[in-house]
Amino acid sequence: MSIRVLPDVLISQIAAGEVVERPAAALKEILENSLDAGATEIQIELEQGGVKRIRVSDNGCGIPRDELALALTRHATSKIASLADLEQVASLGFRGEALASIAAIARVQLTSRSASPDHTRPNHTDAEHAWALQVDGGQLGEPTPAARGAGTTLDIQDLFFNTPARRKFLKTEATEYAHCAEAVRRQALSHPDTTFVLSHNGRVQLRFHAATAAARVRQVLGEAFESNTVAVDAAAGGLRVFGWVIRPGAATASRDSQHVFVNGRYVRDKLIVHALKEAYRDVLHHQLNPAYCLFISLPPDGVDVNVHPAKTEIRFRDSRGVHQFLFHAVERLLAAPAAAGQTETASAQADTQATASFAAQMPWQTSMPLQVSPLQVNEAMAFYAPLGQGSGFGGQDAGMPVAPAAQSFPASGQGDAPPLGYAIAQLHGVYVLAQNAQGLVLVDMHAAHERVVYEKLKAALDARAVPAQTLLIPVALTVDARDVAEISPHLEGLRDIGFEVSITSPTSVAVRSVPWLLKNADPVELTRAVLHEVAEFGVARLLADRRNELLATLACHGAVRANRHLTLPEMNALLREMEATERAGQCNHGRPTWFQVSLRELDAMFMRGR
Ligand code: ADP
Ligand code: MG
Repeated sequence: MSIRVLPDVLISQIAAGEVVERPAAALKEILENSLDAGATEIQIELEQGGVKRIRVSDNGCGIPRDELALALTRHATSKIASLADLEQVASLGFRGEALASIAAIARVQLTSRSASPDHTRPNHTDAEHAWALQVDGGQLGEPTPAARGAGTTLDIQDLFFNTPARRKFLKTEATEYAHCAEAVRRQALSHPDTTFVLSHNGRVQLRFHAATAAARVRQVLGEAFESNTVAVDAAAGGLRVFGWVIRPGAATASRDSQHVFVNGRYVRDKLIVHALKEAYRDVLHHQLNPAYCLFISLPPDGVDVNVHPAKTEIRFRDSRGVHQFLFHAVERLLAAPAAAGQTETASAQADTQATASFAAQMPWQTSMPLQVSPLQVNEAMAFYAPLGQGSGFGGQDAGMPVAPAAQSFPASGQGDAPPLGYAIAQLHGVYVLAQNAQGLVLVDMHAAHERVVYEKLKAALDARAVPAQTLLIPVALTVDARDVAEISPHLEGLRDIGFEVSITSPTSVAVRSVPWLLKNADPVELTRAVLHEVAEFGVARLLADRRNELLATLACHGAVRANRHLTLPEMNALLREMEATERAGQCNHGRPTWFQVSLRELDAMFMRGR
């Protein structure tokens, strides 16, 4: 066969393979066109999952009669005119190939009536009526007069009618519909001021009225998403991110709820997914995935959207900078110590705040005799601190004066009361109960302490200062010969994390010191835990990329065990440490460490109208 130039329709059919792989992809392109045309109302009607029909009507700027054919021609666009425009592109479309591709593989009717002059099309004038143009498999007809208000209707029937190979790849009607609905949801998320109505086989399935960004997220992703997430809003340089990220305690294994928009465009970007995964690394069990809905904006020339015809892949000019920015914005938010009330949702916070100010006027608060002043508590803590600083619970045998129960708040105003309040009791050796301005605080003492110890270990290791506690009597352990061989070149590395281990025979070691932070843990168990990890990963990896996992294991051993009796000062010290600890709202495995039960909730429980 000799070389020849392919006919235009065939070129479009080939291009369609990339742009229009399934009905949802065609729908996405059409919705983008409506949004680029400034539509505030978009009506979508589908039949048979979009395969039989996709009909989209908008109230955008419309297309003049003489440009109808151009709109359906390859590489014809009103959105860019030069390379400079391409580098600055702010519209969703710019390649000028979507409509031509769709028209090459379906029966299409384009009906449009152009509206008043508009900034997107400076030489527009009001058309007296609409015009319609029919295209079948790429064969253009002549425009004929039609009736409709300002805006555009694109009616696509029998998608893939002339490309049977493609048609064979389509899934069931329900699946194709689900993809279409997802395409609508995505555009709806990033364009809250536009109303979207989607119907399938004659029945309305989705209806999103114009709303604020937050209200739209609630409409599209549901109340559960809203109440399980915290708001993020950060900016640096030309970069801004705002949106919502899941509270670690509410995360699930699913990756379905990861919505990212860059300059209003839905994107799937590995770099962004990675930055978010990293931001959650320390608060989420590795089998769980974060959920989020994030809107990232940056100057158009900072991102290349012309990577693939479907335009869901992008390339950042400064990808490292974007990664760092996102990682830090989210990590900081998640790390906020308990004082920031990070485990609460925005609405719950508003609730507790209301309750707090309400509670401040409660007569019982001022009339009740103060049983403990802030000073007394501080003294108790100061006494306790040197012992408590380490593992937190070392000092109870020191004949410490037990502070009386804190049953009321210091009279000197709510501002002085610590966020997690003062301990009142220990429940079944597992939970610490405390009273704060909002009501009752319930703490899982092991989980909370584990996080405290973990964060301290990390900080100590970062500062290259892990104090060791020399054991009075070295502990001798019989171990696997392989383990001994594995650790022998790494004794120094182990010493850096506080373990002084010497090899006493091919199958035994002696432990002379353990990290001071873990001095209350059983040294034999602790060493076995380290050796176990050593056997699995090797010391080198353990001290480098698995360092945090190792520290988490150690923290678990070092944290106070269930059924350990705690005195009130010990409990208070734990609460104060939690307030000062990053990510204290979750244990190392991502489970919550404490809960607030507000007075209002308690009142409701007792049907006590206030
Ligand atoms: P692109 O969006 O990349 O420019 P398309 O093939 O999607 O390419 O559309 C071609 C042109 O048709 C657009 O540039 C625009 O001028 C016009 N057009 C398409 N859909 C609409 C619409 N709903 N309202 C107004 N103009 C439209
Ligand atoms: Mg387009």
